Parts: sequence; structure tokens; C-alpha cells
Amino acid sequence: MALGALVVDGALQSAEARLTRKGDRGIIRIRKDLDPPGRRRFAIGHELGHWQLHRNISQIFVCTEADMIANYRRSRIEAEANSFASALLMPERMFVSTMHDSRPTFAGLYSLEDHFDTSLTATAIRWVDLARDYCAVVVSIAGKIKWWRGSEDFEDAFWISAGDAVSRYAGAYEVGALNREAGPKRVTVDTWAEKQHPLYIDEFIEASTYFPRYKFVMSLLSLP
Ligand SMILES: [Zn+2]
Repeated sequence: MALGALVVDGALQSAEARLTRKGDRGIIRIRKDLDPPGRRRFAIGHELGHWQLHRNISQIFVCTEADMIANYRRSRIEAEANSFASALLMPERMFVSTMHDSRPTFAGLYSLEDHFDTSLTATAIRWVDLARDYCAVVVSIAGKIKWWRGSEDFEDAFWISAGDAVSRYAGAYEVGALNREAGPKRVTVDTWAEKQHPLYIDEFIEASTYFPRYKFVMSLLSLP
């Protein structure tokens, strides 16, 4: 409201959030059944990003679940809105000082998600974005890799193909059907990724968990 945008919760079809602007006034509509509350907060932050940054691009933004995880490869505008929301809700200095381990763990993620009151996904992406080591988060649904994000080092070194089937040697393969956690365990690099150039790295540590609420498996990859 201080910025001129009012947040309302209501019905939205096939989108998580929508921003409509008329001059200096705007309405941010958030899908009313967004759960848990951290997802709602992230969606508001995302629309505030459009509000502050994209006045000259469009007067209306309709943003989907995919937009909330978009990176620069997919959409510069959506990635900017996500960067804005991440920085607003999880300021870098506070976040980094709370990341106790350099490698992402589920215990660490739950604690940060709780502390900053954001979504699990946004917290995981923020972690790998700020990590100074090789690590990645991969989300798979029904045995297929849906999307992934790596730290800068990781993305320079490895490539994971979204759309591919999850390898049967991956921990994510075990948990997909059985609704539980796997790992951390060592897996060979080619279980998940292709090397972009020759590297003396042959294994990842993988921890995977199935989240019934989201119907996805999240895998955290790091180096042994
Ligand atoms: Zn958006």
C-alpha cells in the first residue's frame, strides 16, 4: 500500500498472481488457495518486482507457477521479478549468515524457509544462487526432471536436461514412488548431469525428498 499497490486474495485461473496498474495505483491479486503462506508472500514480492521495475513494459502481468521459478534463460522480465522478491524476502547478507552449511541440506532449507517465511522452492533457489560452491536443486515430477537450478560454479561445469527421465540409480527414483527421503548418498555425476568440459569430479552427494503437498521430488546435489 505504501507503494500504491493493494494486495487482494481472490480466484485466479491458471495463474498464481496478477498485477494490474492504472497510473500510480495498482492491484495485486493473489490466488486465494496459495499454500503455504510463504508461497503467497513470494508471489506478492514477485508482483511488487513487476510494479517497481516494469512500468514501461506492461500494465498487466499474469504470472504462473512457472514464472515464479523463471531464470534469465527463460524470461528476463520474470527472472527480474523473482530476483526482486528473493532480495526483498531473503536479503543476501542475512541469508548468507544464516546458511550454516556451505552445502544445501533439507534441515538447512527447512530452517531458512521458516526463518524467512518464504516457499521451499524460493528458499532452495536462493541458496544455490548465493552458494560459493558446486551445488544444485533439481525438481522432478512423476519420474521426469521438471526444472533445475545450479550455483554459478555448477552451471559452468554441468548440464542437466529438463524433460529427461530420472535415472534409476538416483535417490529421487527411489523416493518418487515410496513417499520418503533418500540419502544423502553418493551417485555418479552421469546419474544426473553431463559435464560441460573435462573435470576431475566423478560423484555428487544427493539428498532427495518427496513432498506430497507439491507432488514433487526435490533433490539437492553437492560435491563429496
Ligand atoms: Zn511475473
